[in-house]
Amino acid sequence: MKPIDTLEMSRRLVSFDTVSRGSNLDLIEFVENTLDDHGIESFRVPNDDDSKANLVATIGPEEPGGVILSGHTDVVPVDGQAWSRDPFDPWVADDRLYGRGTCDMKTFIAAALSAVPRMNSLSRPIHLALSYDEEVGCLGAPRMIETIADRLPPCRAAVVGEPTDMESVCAHKGIVALRTRVTGYETHSSQTHRGVSAVMTAARLVTYLDDAASRLIEECREDTGFDPAYTTVHVGVIRGGTAINIVSRDCEFVWDIRAVRESDATRLLDEFDHFCQNEILPAMRQRHPAAGIVTETLARAPGFDVAPGSPAVELVQRLTGITTTRKVSYAAEAGLFHEAGFPTVICGPGSIDQAHQRDEYVTLDQVAAVDAFMDRLIAAQR
Ligand SMILES: [Zn+2]
Repeated sequence: MKPIDTLEMSRRLVSFDTVSRGSNLDLIEFVENTLDDHGIESFRVPNDDDSKANLVATIGPEEPGGVILSGHTDVVPVDGQAWSRDPFDPWVADDRLYGRGTCDMKTFIAAALSAVPRMNSLSRPIHLALSYDEEVGCLGAPRMIETIADRLPPCRAAVVGEPTDMESVCAHKGIVALRTRVTGYETHSSQTHRGVSAVMTAARLVTYLDDAASRLIEECREDTGFDPAYTTVHVGVIRGGTAINIVSRDCEFVWDIRAVRESDATRLLDEFDHFCQNEILPAMRQRHPAAGIVTETLARAPGFDVAPGSPAVELVQRLTGITTTRKVSYAAEAGLFHEAGFPTVICGPGSIDQAHQRDEYVTLDQVAAVDAFMDRLIAAQR
């Protein structure tokens, strides 16, 4: 079989529309077949309704000391973004490969896959771990990592290939994603004294969160190495109400906490709950007993923070030749690997500046850099 280079492999992976709201199974099947062509077995770790799957494969002997190459197969939507061409029909221009997922993070997966034919005579294995639903809160990875921890011999490193310009990243913030639903009581808007406005209550809650966000900025005295240095709170979407002359019955908003420390998130959630239960709800319920506020956690992924000299970081620095390390504010699956006991580092081609953008791209220099990384990794595992 003719080997497929990273650029061509990335084009093929990008051509699968794997926006998180849909299935990733066509891509997974393509990867299974590609691995199978090289005699590599893989296994799926599916979601509950079998509409999506993680995929795990081992190349080389079933021995300890393996390196996991981990990537998420899903991408963020292109809705509302003015792409100059079809985001799922990748194109090369100005020494860049353009398309949704070229940077975040199919080119890393492509580099690993296109290196498979070169992964021969290994004395220690290289494992591939591909997840689903990372972009919507790292939903797929926990069961994949649990399976890996159960089934694979102990590994010496997990490399999460998020775009870092091939620099080693030793920390990311944790994330909690939440939805708050406010239920009020509908009346004619001339009768505000008889109704409970869900929209106006939600506005108070959003203001509370905005104040909390300001407090977190003020309280942050140290340089934590993150940009920004403090824990952030952000309301992304709010929806509610029916008409100008109806006191609104429903309003909901989704929000997230990106925490430098887990305790920041826990404390904020406690305080928010206390505010709802004690400051807001009693007055709402006095007007109408059906009024309520319910907050549910949509996703929660732990933060990641290891010393710059820790084993996985040190290994990757040796392979890339880039000795600097950095912390990032976006969440990733590294915290989950770390929590499960794997020495972990984030390192992959492309820049986070291009991730999630219209006309997302990875430079051909970065493609060459990740290819060189794969070659040195193969040599290190021989
Ligand atoms: Zn990503």
